[in-house]
Amino acid sequence: MTAFDRIIIVDWSASKSPSPKKPSADAIWIAVHQAGTTTCTYHRTRLDAVTALCAQFDDALALGQRVMAGFDFPFGYPAGFAHAVTGRADPLSLWAELAARIVDGADNANNRFDVACGLNRMFPGVGPFWGCPQAQSDADLPAKGSLRHGHGMAERRKVEEVIPSAQPCWKLYTTGSVGSQALLGIARLQALRVRYGAALSVSPFQAPDTPIVLAEVYPSLLAKDVAARQGMDEIKDRAQVRILADAFAGLPPDTLTTLLHEGDPEEGWILGLGHEDVLRAALGAAPPPPLKNDCFALPPGIEWTPVDVALRDLQSRLGPVVGSQTVPVASALGRILAADVTAVRAHPPLPNTAVDGYGFAGTRGAGVHSLPLLDVQMTAGRSPDFVVPDGHAVRILTGAALPDGVDTVVLQEDVTRGEDTIAFHGPVKGGANTRATGEDVEAGAVIALVGRVLTPADLAVLSAVGVNDVAVRTALRVGVLSTGDELVAPGDTAAPGQIFDANRPMLLGLIARMGHVPVDLGHVRDDRAALAARLDWAAGEADVILTSGGASSGDEDHVSALLNEAGAMALWRIAIKPGRPLALGLWQDTPVFGLPGNPVAAMVCTLVFAAPALSQMAGSEWRVPQGFDVPAAFEKRKKAGRREYLRARMRAGQVEIFASEGSGRISGLSWAEGLVALPDEALHVQPGDLVRYIPWAGFGI
Ligand code: AMP
Ligand code: MG
Repeated sequence: MTAFDRIIIVDWSASKSPSPKKPSADAIWIAVHQAGTTTCTYHRTRLDAVTALCAQFDDALALGQRVMAGFDFPFGYPAGFAHAVTGRADPLSLWAELAARIVDGADNANNRFDVACGLNRMFPGVGPFWGCPQAQSDADLPAKGSLRHGHGMAERRKVEEVIPSAQPCWKLYTTGSVGSQALLGIARLQALRVRYGAALSVSPFQAPDTPIVLAEVYPSLLAKDVAARQGMDEIKDRAQVRILADAFAGLPPDTLTTLLHEGDPEEGWILGLGHEDVLRAALGAAPPPPLKNDCFALPPGIEWTPVDVALRDLQSRLGPVVGSQTVPVASALGRILAADVTAVRAHPPLPNTAVDGYGFAGTRGAGVHSLPLLDVQMTAGRSPDFVVPDGHAVRILTGAALPDGVDTVVLQEDVTRGEDTIAFHGPVKGGANTRATGEDVEAGAVIALVGRVLTPADLAVLSAVGVNDVAVRTALRVGVLSTGDELVAPGDTAAPGQIFDANRPMLLGLIARMGHVPVDLGHVRDDRAALAARLDWAAGEADVILTSGGASSGDEDHVSALLNEAGAMALWRIAIKPGRPLALGLWQDTPVFGLPGNPVAAMVCTLVFAAPALSQMAGSEWRVPQGFDVPAAFEKRKKAGRREYLRARMRAGQVEIFASEGSGRISGLSWAEGLVALPDEALHVQPGDLVRYIPWAGFGI
């Protein structure tokens, strides 16, 4: 059977009159997920809702599609009820009986209280149904639950024992009125059963292998996720059906089918109960909340901010700024997971052999063993569809599944082969040379966590355990803008006094190496209006903007001046060399990293501050640079009070530094293969002392 092409979720209502014209809560809402999009509709009456459902079902059947439709009312009653009413313990006979009793008009007028009263009369004592408007209460249908006695039915189904918040199905009136929803809902669904016949099944009472499958759902399963994803002005009922439809639609097809099989065959079950984590993972990451205006506020009372304080503040205030999408595993290299990934099937999926040899069952003691050999060869990929009789052996090749009757394999090198027998020396331990199902990865195990940047090896694991598609973050677009009157683009003619723009190609290259999407925002002169116009445009082109130049507080430092005017800027005086102030701000809600113009400082500040921040904004974790302690091949004295980064590289097991520390020396950047980080304290490094060396790869480039 193919997967489901449409997922429909219905928020039902037991209303006795049509719901308001204006879409409102406590009415019927239907979400339809199809081909990646979810559409929600509002229905004033049950008849109208069922008409819309039939249109969906008819359309799907005509196209050869499959539909799973979930409804938020109980499909069954506590065990024993169906038998007491119909003489059979069959929940679907009960459906037919309820449908025969219920009258539900086009205007929602209905006889549910009368039906409940009539059912109660079939039981001793008073009950089990209860709850109705005072005027309609009856000796057989009490207005209060406490007036019931002696009816002999359990108060809750097994599934409701698991969820204390679920209302029992006997309660017909006020909060929840689940009982009324079930009576009116089951009657309508029974009509669908009649209409669609063998094309429709009801989970978990019937096998869910028909084109249309109906199931019971419970929107509160994902209450927290609904709260996090509900639109600003969205009615909660609408958000619930929409998000539940997205969750079921996001499940791997096999998982949904497995869930549809779960549950009690008489009482019914809530689809997905106990698998909330899987549903949540199927939803992917919630859309990111906008960054707060004060996300770049300075730490109070500090004049020169230590590097670690600046990093800690950035880490705590920045979060993901990108959404998520689903991509095939084959094109997911380097992408960031938006949700945990679980194994669809075990690895290995079946017990198999680790070697070429001969398989049989059980341990063999010391001495010579001779076994009759079956006339079949078990090769990798072949279905193990035959049985090896006790005391027999079968030829089996590496990777082949073990047929029934085989749990042990002896290496072919250890076997003497006769015409139709094999002989070998014991002892051979039972289970030797075999691999157990799931010994590598068990089905359902979490194999990769949200935020992981997928490596080539990850693609192997995902493929091996049957994962075809993964939810990943949409790529982070990082814009790079150069500022300064003195700059000309490489390739243009430079007048005396002008210099070529070196930062832009460097920064764009760093972004690409970090795995983000570089966006070239060009160059602007030191002109406030032009810069403002360019930033306006850039905010639409990029998720984050890196500028270089003009970030200090001088007359020509327009980046910091503009961000300051926009009211969301902080000039961070960070105790770091090389690096002048960093201007951090928001321009139209887009974070801007105002880097120093000096190329050496621009690169160091990008690696130290922007790289971990970009990683976190892209939906991955805050990346801490990975270095190691290596003997210095140099001598160096430094003052206390600032972190220093030296252009460095390793030769012959020692780290050497660039001859000049001049921050204008771009050539040193390309000479270097990493940086040495010297701590904030005063220090006198002698040759041979250990210093922290961070190769470029340690910064993720
Ligand atoms: P600023 O931060 O604008 O004061 O610039 C500091 C130094 O970096 C000045 O010498 C600038 O000429 C130089 N500079 C600024 N932007 C770039 C760039 N894109 N490429 C090369 N040098 C630059
Ligand atoms: Mg400048």
